[in-house]
Amino acid sequence: MQRKCFINGTIISNAVRQNTDILVDNGIIAALGDHKAFGLTKDDEIIDCSGRIILPGIIDAHCHIQLDTGIFQTHDGWWNGSQEAARGGITTVIDFVGPQPGEDLRHALDFRLEQAKDSIVDYTFHMTVLDDTEQSLDAIDKCPGWGISSLKIYTTYRPNYYLDDQAIVRILERAAKAGLTVLVHCENDAIVTHETARIASKDLWRDYPRLRPAIAEVEAAERIIRLADYTGARVVIAHNSSEQTADVVSQARAEGISVFNETCPQYLFLCDEDNFSSDEPWRFILQPPLRDELALDGLAQAILADDIDMVITDHCAYTRDEKTANPLATPGGLPGFETLLPMLASLPDITWEQVSCLLCRNPAQIYGLWPHKGAIAPGFDADIIVIRDETYTIDETQLQSFAGYSPFNGHEARGIIERVFRRGEEIIHHGKTLAAQGSGRFFKVGD
Ligand SMILES: [Zn+2]
Repeated sequence: MQRKCFINGTIISNAVRQNTDILVDNGIIAALGDHKAFGLTKDDEIIDCSGRIILPGIIDAHCHIQLDTGIFQTHDGWWNGSQEAARGGITTVIDFVGPQPGEDLRHALDFRLEQAKDSIVDYTFHMTVLDDTEQSLDAIDKCPGWGISSLKIYTTYRPNYYLDDQAIVRILERAAKAGLTVLVHCENDAIVTHETARIASKDLWRDYPRLRPAIAEVEAAERIIRLADYTGARVVIAHNSSEQTADVVSQARAEGISVFNETCPQYLFLCDEDNFSSDEPWRFILQPPLRDELALDGLAQAILADDIDMVITDHCAYTRDEKTANPLATPGGLPGFETLLPMLASLPDITWEQVSCLLCRNPAQIYGLWPHKGAIAPGFDADIIVIRDETYTIDETQLQSFAGYSPFNGHEARGIIERVFRRGEEIIHHGKTLAAQGSGRFFKVGD
């Protein structure tokens, strides 16, 4: 591959801002510094980034391409889904292996690897564990050898996903032994079940947030953190939707417990009870649900205080038709690949240094992709995005999303992603895909 040299840009990587040039050779960052020292020849490609911000390629550490929950499916596929991610500046996704009940986990991984062959972005997976049978526990031991560094478990969603505390303890203990991180969807199942029975017959849209109150998330997060401490497991509390959850995590961390957290732009911008009495409440249905404006301010403060480690999309490409088909059981989940960076960067007072840490450095470090992904430094993969720092209004008709809508339609955004490079190859040029189908790679953690 031709060498590439990025000149005149402002690089923001690993919490540091520097005006320097980047030399890329064979898909790897070869050097930073003054391009005059790079010994460039006429065969090398010069990419002028004057007036542009350069970030490492984003790692979306929690998203769902071609999702099959057993009840609902998205039909995006990895060719579509990965292009949508790439347009959002995402060069690596950490998606999920989604075994069906009783399915062998290696078999389930192979199934996902086959689907992901169409990807243009690099990918790895969290291994979803649905039970604590000996077969599943043995598979956990094997995950590091398969290149998988993390598990996903749920404290709710009967009958397929729910795990009781005994199963959770057994899985956490095994994960700790195998050196795996465990991403946990935290909602107290008893509270959710109780509230659902109480409210289900009434106005579902308006009452939706009350079916799964914030206390359900806080209780489950506290319990998981204590069980992590007991078993020695390293855990990530998934998609924090309330400030209280972020507080619980930072207190535990202060006690020396190995716990991390993530949130999504939807919890930072869309918490507004009016959404549920709007004409299109289906746009705002996801789990955990959106909270009130107080939660939104609290989470924004937690971001600014560095009490949140990662911002992820939890992208699910359910289409408008799928979301509206059955108002009593609309699939939970929102599209978010193309809006992740522009929404996060629009948070008042956030710095580009923070954006770069939340989207690139931290997920790489937490899930073992460091020192290959997550920074612009010699030896790292040349995953590079070039951004014009401008504010604009999100217009869903201008997006190319498979879902066909954006919950952020009409919101202010910041940062136009002009060019996206994955391992040195330009994969997106002003919204247009340049990469070949299947040019993304499985990132085997630990290789
Ligand atoms: Zn998810």
